[in-house]
Amino acid sequence: MLASSLDSVGKNMDCEEQSTTSLLDIVIKWNGNDYDVKNLNIKSDVKTLKEEIFKCTGVRPERQKLINLRISGKMAPDECLLNAIDIKSGTNIMMVGSKEEDIAEASVVPPKREKGRKCKSYDSEEFDEERVDKMEIHLAKVQSRVDNYEIKVLNDPRPGKKLLVLDIDYTLFDHRSAAESGIELMRPYLHDFLESAYEHYDIVIWSATDMRWIERKMAVLNVANNAAYKIMFYLDNGAMITVHTPKYGVVSVKPLGVIWGKFPENYNKQNTIMFDDIRRNFLMNPKNGLKIRPFREAHLNWEMDKELLHLAAYLVEIAKIDDFTKLNHRNWEKFIKKAQSKKEKRHKKDRSDSEHKPPDSQPNL
Ligand code: MG
Repeated sequence: MLASSLDSVGKNMDCEEQSTTSLLDIVIKWNGNDYDVKNLNIKSDVKTLKEEIFKCTGVRPERQKLINLRISGKMAPDECLLNAIDIKSGTNIMMVGSKEEDIAEASVVPPKREKGRKCKSYDSEEFDEERVDKMEIHLAKVQSRVDNYEIKVLNDPRPGKKLLVLDIDYTLFDHRSAAESGIELMRPYLHDFLESAYEHYDIVIWSATDMRWIERKMAVLNVANNAAYKIMFYLDNGAMITVHTPKYGVVSVKPLGVIWGKFPENYNKQNTIMFDDIRRNFLMNPKNGLKIRPFREAHLNWEMDKELLHLAAYLVEIAKIDDFTKLNHRNWEKFIKKAQSKKEKRHKKDRSDSEHKPPDSQPNL
């Protein structure tokens, strides 16, 4: 008890600076809304601020994370005085946190579906987007990954290239089936696909596992050091965020905003596409995701699986398009068929034109 009191005093002393008597007005950004906390004494501590926030938002102090309220690069602790933080009247503070009733709602097991009623799933075509990508609470989490997640860049971005983000498990690799070696679980055409994509796209690998596994898998598959293409960097589960959707509870997703925030000069929603076998990973950027058919049971499906071959063709076709948000990646196969039939028609016409072309007139002698 004594030790913790001393600790608390010590922390207070660390944070304390010259105090003034001025009052602060602060705006709390949470869940897409602004909440004003007015006339807060600058000599108050963070705990007092959190109690004021609780009064207007209903989020309990222990559930609040004030993302950009920082001291020495870390989130300011409760005992820190506001006058020790570089905070001015009118400052916007982004908050992450849920109300008790919302947490309780997320924990409830959904009721059994009625007989005959189609089940909505993240992976079904019926999945209707809840616009979680617009919610302040989730955008704040993305910003915290931009600020805190460290990317080890293996190869620099190339100016003018688009961005391709690839999942690993069941997208490039069957990670569940038994095999003598990892290479037997590799999806067919993987290297051809990556080589073709590399011409127009910088490539990022993003897997919901930890970095050691990603590096190992990429080495086993001979993707890590391939002469025909280069991977720009890997992202692991640390770059993912959790989002809370009223219908489906709390789920982890891969927000492309983390890459866009880290490389604003190079990549954005107009030039990025992501492949994943789980659609919910696109919740923060639904227009940029293409749900690939999962590659499972490698030993049975190796001969038949041509998904990467066809997707390589799609990537080449859409590389000519300036704004990917105008595409609907759900129709990627139709898009290729249309493009191919246009090409065939053009070739036919060219052939027919050249057959009916009158012979060159004889030169005057
Ligand atoms: Mg996967």
